[in-house]
Amino acid sequence: MNPRILSLLSSISIVSTLILITCTISVIGAKPDSSSGNDFSYLERSCLSKWAAAEEENNRKNQTSPRRRTAEMLSLETPELDCTVWSEACSEEVLNLARRPENVRWMKDLRRIIHANPELAFEEFETSRLIRQELDGMEVAYRFPMAGTGIRATIGTGEPPFVALRADMDALPIQEAVEWEHKSQVAGKMHACGHDAHVAMLIGAAKILKTREHHLKGTVILLFQPAEEAGNGAKRMISDGALENVEAIFAVHVSHQHPTAVIGSRPGPLLAGCGFFRAVIRGKQGSAGNPHRSVDPVLAASASVISLQGIVSREANPLDSQVVSVTSFNGGDNLDAIPDTVVIGGTFRAFSNTSFYQLLKRIEEVIVEQAGVFRCSATIDFFEKEYTIYPPTVNDEKMYEHVRKVAVDLVGRENFRVVPPMMGAEDFSFYSEVVPAAFFYIGIRNETLGSIHSGHSPHFMIDEDALPVGAATHAAIAERYLNEHR
Ligand SMILES: [Zn+2]
Ligand SMILES: [Zn+2]
Repeated sequence: MNPRILSLLSSISIVSTLILITCTISVIGAKPDSSSGNDFSYLERSCLSKWAAAEEENNRKNQTSPRRRTAEMLSLETPELDCTVWSEACSEEVLNLARRPENVRWMKDLRRIIHANPELAFEEFETSRLIRQELDGMEVAYRFPMAGTGIRATIGTGEPPFVALRADMDALPIQEAVEWEHKSQVAGKMHACGHDAHVAMLIGAAKILKTREHHLKGTVILLFQPAEEAGNGAKRMISDGALENVEAIFAVHVSHQHPTAVIGSRPGPLLAGCGFFRAVIRGKQGSAGNPHRSVDPVLAASASVISLQGIVSREANPLDSQVVSVTSFNGGDNLDAIPDTVVIGGTFRAFSNTSFYQLLKRIEEVIVEQAGVFRCSATIDFFEKEYTIYPPTVNDEKMYEHVRKVAVDLVGRENFRVVPPMMGAEDFSFYSEVVPAAFFYIGIRNETLGSIHSGHSPHFMIDEDALPVGAATHAAIAERYLNEHR
């Protein structure tokens, strides 16, 4: 690589690191804004903005616009192999591109900046800005905004076929318990599901695909979506046109169950459909010493909880995995009175839409009927208006086979696993309801590093060595899809 470009890249990384250190120091000295509780959002914005400003300044000093810089890099990196008929050498070329030290450094830096500055569902303003800045630097066109903070970027001929790759951008309302250099700087918010890594891998893929754009036999759509955790990000992206012309879609999720860079997936149902319910059971308040003068919702709610257990155990096919869990029960805290109302709530999961909506129907019937037995009434909310119902994620057999083939060629047969279905849920399922889709995992488990905790744990961490492999897998999936479907 041209030494001028190498020094440019290393100076970007030094500036980014300095900004990050400055931000970290300012966080240590900062006090939460009392008017906004523990909200450090002003801080995360300023950190990301400082980083962005440093990038701009860097470009100006080097008298090189992001556009020109990328163009220079591309001309140097233009691969020579013809991959119309894919070969082992093509896989190697993609992987080598992803593994170039400057690219790995860049992806890790991006992931660390996003990790240190987590933003919750539909608030991914600075994360989105950072992504757009990188896309600008690579001369990748995009549509923005979609679903508030979402981005739809385009690489390729602009002609069919169109294949999409998706990354989610949101963090979780969790306080990070991992002590490390790039720990979350925002109190009570954390990238505990690895969406920071998903963004870095998809930007990494954008770079590979842009470098190989002359090879592409169609168009790759890169979707950066908000609010996976809140459940309606994907749905809103679709209604804003994310899947326009798209004929297939793929996405990756990091997994602590597999060693670093091992890829896993399965054909058919992969993740469960997921819904939540909250039931308000109404009786009549009264003195606990004279229960006959009240109508007791505690008894009605208790009977409901017991009866709900019978739905899966007595009504569902044992070979069709389902779950109904009651997770909350609240009747107040007066020990001397029978309350007016009791609120119970929980979640339910199933692997087919039929089973899922059967569960929903039966949860309502059981609670309403059991309340009636004890002279109470009940109303149940399934939060359908807020779209917190996720359908099951079902991998299309052919799209799964495509992922398997690409992964085996990239990482070797020994590093691909057929995984069992899981009761977790993903809003990628909204895309998979519309077009053929495949969702796959990339391992981030490394006992030496301590990246052994599950997603949504405050101890969650990842082995960043998975990033280049994830980027290469994304890129190869898209490029090979276009080759084979033109
Ligand atoms: Zn999650
Ligand atoms: Zn996630």
